Amino acid sequence: MAQKIVRLTDSVINQIAAGEVVENPASIVKELLENSLDAGSRHIAIAIRGGGLQSIEIEDDGSGMSPEDAVASLERHATSKIRSADDLNSLTTMGFRGEALAAISSISHFELKTSNGENGTFIRTKGSDIQETIPCARNQGTTISVRSLFFNVPARKKFQKSVASNVAQVTKIIEIISCAYPEVSFSYTSHDECILQLPSQRRRERIEAVFGPFPHLGERPALWGLFKAPQDAKSHRRGQVLFINRRPVFSPLISKAVQMGYGTRLKENMYPSFVLFLEVDPAVVDVNVHPQKKEVRLSEESSLFQRVEGFVAECFTSNQEESAPTFSGPLSFEPPAPFLFAEEGNAYYPKMRQGSLPIEVVEKPLTVMGRYLLLEKEGLLLIDLIGAHARVMAEELKKETITTQALLWPLELDMDDPELFQDLQKMGVECRWIGVKKIAVDALPSMIDSSEFLLFISSWKEGKTLDAASVRFCRNLKKRYSLDEAILIWRRLQNCRDRLYDPIGKKIWEKIEQKDLDIWMSRG
Ligand code: ADP
Ligand code: MG
Repeated sequence: MAQKIVRLTDSVINQIAAGEVVENPASIVKELLENSLDAGSRHIAIAIRGGGLQSIEIEDDGSGMSPEDAVASLERHATSKIRSADDLNSLTTMGFRGEALAAISSISHFELKTSNGENGTFIRTKGSDIQETIPCARNQGTTISVRSLFFNVPARKKFQKSVASNVAQVTKIIEIISCAYPEVSFSYTSHDECILQLPSQRRRERIEAVFGPFPHLGERPALWGLFKAPQDAKSHRRGQVLFINRRPVFSPLISKAVQMGYGTRLKENMYPSFVLFLEVDPAVVDVNVHPQKKEVRLSEESSLFQRVEGFVAECFTSNQEESAPTFSGPLSFEPPAPFLFAEEGNAYYPKMRQGSLPIEVVEKPLTVMGRYLLLEKEGLLLIDLIGAHARVMAEELKKETITTQALLWPLELDMDDPELFQDLQKMGVECRWIGVKKIAVDALPSMIDSSEFLLFISSWKEGKTLDAASVRFCRNLKKRYSLDEAILIWRRLQNCRDRLYDPIGKKIWEKIEQKDLDIWMSRG
């Protein structure tokens, strides 16, 4: 039976819009941070609990709002930043749609405390309903607190990631945005534990405090970049940070241009890490193509491509001998994420970074030879790393709670097999349909690197079962294991239920005793 058409209420409209703007705690932190920066703040403090699902609080000393503006700011399409569509061509602020506060307040218990230096206002809302508006005392600036996120959107709440992965995502957003505003000081805590404390700094100082040292610097009008050495390139693009007009964005085009600039210094399929700032005429960038403003459309692409490529190439030839500055920043470059060993509460990842062996050595690792690790332990142990890796992986992916690693930019894939889609979800791959035959992947089990995900899918199709797929995947990876990686696999194997056999029943390790050597060498 046909339903009568009714106009949706504002609170329902806001909730629908919230689906686009507010995906998770990190997207909220991003919107609120942008607002604080647009308001000209010098100090911003962010505090989260429960990965942001429990609460997000952000306090700034920016312009604040008058009582009238404070009320208006929660309405949809209410913005102080543009007046006409033409203003999009000369945009200098991060926000412009007037959507974020309306959306965020529609799906949370929301409080706004703000003062323009003259009048302070406190507003409390619950799912868009204003519960209280009263004058209050506050220094100039704004405090926003968002609690019980998604309390009225259970479906969205159900699909939220683990606390650790939300914290990692929020951290990444703050780290990135802080690089574009080095003059602003940031403090950031999770459950009162300090994660970032950044004083007002120079740009390079800020970036190196966040991402570690960069040996190569390039400066030209409208282009500024720090580049890691070619030998530190990675098999994924997570170390690439691009700002266009101070807005953090993703652009495959610019990423490719930088890669070309590194030229033959890079090994095949390796991606350099960099932080690049590009200033372009606001009319050349269309920021209005992505709900979260993560992607931009660039006109005059080919000239930009050449400019960036030339810039990067030149900065390698001009300061090749510049040595890496010593570094005493608070954080290491990558969020603990890559490859195999990033997991909640993983004690050895940080230790590994300092170059120490991650295990108490009762067995002494000797060397890696191809797919084998040779270990000394009451004689010798020969370990098949592919089998061990596959065993660790299969058991990990079968766990009920799988540690996932959120991707900063969702991965888009063609998908014509709904069953495969369901299988992926069961394995902890967080994905959703974005078209009839297209999915977006938001997070991967931390066992699988995003650059290896396609290989994983093809191994899965070949293998059909998780056991067979794990073995095929590890074989197809053709990975050259470093000694550190090999040791960690061995270590992880010790936590597996079956430590003897790989998932398809082949023995993972063999003990070699002196008598075996004697037989082998025909001595005796
Ligand atoms: P937009 O940023 O796209 O304009 P928002 O919904 O994020 O939309 O914010 C609405 C308006 O509220 C902003 O245009 C700004 O005038 C005001 N506002 C929001 N946050 C702050 C803040 N931290 N300080 C001062 N004004 C703010
Ligand atoms: Mg905004």
